[in-house]
Amino acid sequence: MFDLKDFKIPKDVWITKKINYKVSWVQRFPDPTQIGECDYDGKKIILKKDMNSFLTFFTFLHECVHALSEHRKLGMSEYQVNGLEHGFQIMVELNGWIKKTRVEKQPPRSRKT
Ligand SMILES: [Zn+2]
Repeated sequence: MFDLKDFKIPKDVWITKKINYKVSWVQRFPDPTQIGECDYDGKKIILKKDMNSFLTFFTFLHECVHALSEHRKLGMSEYQVNGLEHGFQIMVELNGWIKKTRVEKQPPRSRKT
């Protein structure tokens, strides 16, 4: 079983063989409910600092899915990206792949993308 606290968010991530995104962090976004952003033009994933390890990991995954959708031309909607993110959250817990660290009380799930 894996503890998400042990997962270190990388400094950059290869989305395809040729496309690399840098990961950067902000204390907060102008919209205080926003916790992540995927900047396709700037090739950046931006994450809010100081979130718990569960929320940080799945927000990172969520933004990676946006980047995959963009560069693989999958045309996924926010609804679809959220559905995959939440589906993975439930699946990894149901199968005991991660230590259950999910907190029920989470900040609003609003994200710019
Ligand atoms: Zn999103």
